[in-house]
Amino acid sequence: MMDTTKKSLQVAAIENGTVIDHIPTDKVFTIASLLQLDRCNDQVTIGNNLDSGRMGSKGIIKIANRFFSDAEISRLAAVCPNIRLCIIRDYEVVEKRIASLPDEFVGIVRCANPVCITNNEPMKTVFYVTDKEQGVVKCRYCGKEQNIEHIKLV
Ligand SMILES: [Zn+2]
Repeated sequence: MMDTTKKSLQVAAIENGTVIDHIPTDKVFTIASLLQLDRCNDQVTIGNNLDSGRMGSKGIIKIANRFFSDAEISRLAAVCPNIRLCIIRDYEVVEKRIASLPDEFVGIVRCANPVCITNNEPMKTVFYVTDKEQGVVKCRYCGKEQNIEHIKLV
């Protein structure tokens, strides 16, 4: 067993809210910006490069008094498929949510095709998730396919 007392001291506990744990260290700030935490008025704790027995090092984000919608959680899947969120009430984990790939991404993923209309007109991109297993997305406008591992965000 890990020393959970010591582990929990790395980042203070929250009474109510959402904890996103085991974030790859290079994704922490992308997730923070995707969830618009820079505009969040509630208490936000971001820890990065923390020791993690399982992953070597990891990031963690705790947001007090925020509970994300299904749409917000599915946006996370664009940068970190299958990441888990813990919903905290009264210091206890009451629910775990997994950010699984949605059927489509609207206004999130940038098209890799430079001549695609979405790169040349002020409009929202739309990508269909054509293969959830492999993480393949396809541009609605030009048909360009990309793997979720290599996408750039709008
Ligand atoms: Zn396109």
